[in-house]
Amino acid sequence: MSQRVNGQALAEATTKARVRTAPIVEYAPAPETVKVEILPRYGHFINGRFVEPKAEGTRPRSHEATKKAPNQATTKHGRVRPLESASNLYFATINPANEQVLSEVAQGSAADVDAAVRAARAALPAWASLPGKERTKYIFRIARRIQERARELAVLETMDGGKPIRESRDVDVPLAAAHFFYYAGWADKLKYAFAGEPEPKPIGVCGQIIPWNFPLLMCAWKLAPALACGNTCVLKPAETTPLTALRLAEILEEVGLPKGVVNIVTGDGRTGAAIVNHPGIDKIAFTGSTEVGKRIASAVAQYGESEARPTHAKRLTFELGGKSPNIIFEDASIDQAIEGIIQGIFFNQGHVCCAGSRLLVQESILDDVIAKLKIRMGSLRVGDPLDKNTDIGAINSRPQLEKIESYLRVGREEGAELCEPTRQTTLPGKGFFCRPCFFTGVQPSHTIAREEIFGPVLAVQSFRTPEEAITRANNTPYGLAAGVWTDKGSKIFEIARQLKAGVVWLNTYNRFDPASPFGGFKESGFGREGGVHGLRGYLDV
Ligand code: NDP
Repeated sequence: MSQRVNGQALAEATTKARVRTAPIVEYAPAPETVKVEILPRYGHFINGRFVEPKAEGTRPRSHEATKKAPNQATTKHGRVRPLESASNLYFATINPANEQVLSEVAQGSAADVDAAVRAARAALPAWASLPGKERTKYIFRIARRIQERARELAVLETMDGGKPIRESRDVDVPLAAAHFFYYAGWADKLKYAFAGEPEPKPIGVCGQIIPWNFPLLMCAWKLAPALACGNTCVLKPAETTPLTALRLAEILEEVGLPKGVVNIVTGDGRTGAAIVNHPGIDKIAFTGSTEVGKRIASAVAQYGESEARPTHAKRLTFELGGKSPNIIFEDASIDQAIEGIIQGIFFNQGHVCCAGSRLLVQESILDDVIAKLKIRMGSLRVGDPLDKNTDIGAINSRPQLEKIESYLRVGREEGAELCEPTRQTTLPGKGFFCRPCFFTGVQPSHTIAREEIFGPVLAVQSFRTPEEAITRANNTPYGLAAGVWTDKGSKIFEIARQLKAGVVWLNTYNRFDPASPFGGFKESGFGREGGVHGLRGYLDV
């Protein structure tokens, strides 16, 4: 014990010395200069063109927002806007890094959703019966056009969502194109996808509801396999990040995708609920919180049949929340693992369903890992997401920032110790920003160890044996992802086998590829997206 205390003291002294002596490298700002034209107002994209929103039949009764107040609702940005009046068919989308309004987008009503579903239904027979190699051409063209407009899409994504331009430029947009390329390749080979099964058929009209953390990439995850399989779609982007989905609609027009094959309806959760409840929808693909996922499942269970397939309930695939463990064994390469920890929790400000938000470190190396983590975090830069030097951009919305801050309070109140090693003393005066941080002294029962924070907040715990690591890692209602760091190959496979998680990264973290399936167990959802497995959710097999 005293040896450990001495070790800890030595590690802390070394860290302090290093932090004191390490030069502070200040970069000049390097803001992205690509100009992106944003219209003052956007309608919905229905039946191949942008249309004005309709007012009537706007409020599906099942959504909880209707219970708040009869005639008003609060936007994600915290502003109250009146409903039901024709002049309030639009709402503002803002840049979370400076709180300036970027544009106005339409609030999708039940009538808008109905128009989109009708367009998708009308387009279905021709699209489904198009030879696979013809569908391939359209999907391939979408991918190429995303590549050609990549710079513009990356800047727009960063402005609307707050993520660092380095990530939207190097991860989100290239991966979105890669998904369309990948599924373009499947469209004419579907009969080979599932050996021994009869020739697969599309499901029909798919309702796709996506979150704000990877807006364009989630469009690609949802649309690319659905289109390859011959389905038509009604997609709703998140309220705070609709702009890249609408830019994608322009791309769909450019490539000449037949009218009605993809329809994009913007709006808040009520619009999502209208899609879920519409009888013309045959399948719901949802990515978002576990709480809303449960609400959707219950709505589908109650009124689930689709008109077009009366003997079937709506099909569902859910990609929900997570509280994923990132496990570092004493035989791991610690410097490499430190990069994996940073990538695991601070990528996209921690707004990642599979974020490695629970760090489990073998006790013998805990002090060393903490010391090195502090040094590495000291160099992280929080600030303007359009600056190429920025590591941590803006939190997506004010309510999300408040949610993260409330978890920081709860973590301290429950007895954990908060550490914010960044050397940056000030944060931007406007916008929603949060310093990257971690908690030590975390018990498995602590709220911050159990609940999804969805921010740049890491909960550090230790373990002594591999068995204890596995028990702690699996001690969660979620089961989306996990990371394992060790130099021993056999240990990697043994531990990975025992982890109850849909994705297990070994000596790396947060790596994605369109050919790899992604999805969860338990409260993290069901169904898989990506790879050949991702086709199953869009085919009647
Ligand atoms: P939600 O689950 O509320 O949002 C996901 C999508 O569902 C959005 O498009 C949303 O619309 C829509 N939606 C909301 N309510 C309904 C409904 N009743 N029926 C149908 N669709 C609906 O996530 P939040 O944006 O509220 O984030 C809350 C928390 O969820 C986060 O803090 C995080 O913990 C978690 N989350 C997890 C994600 C993941 O990838 N696993 C992604 C996003 C959030 P709108 O945006 O307009 O509300």
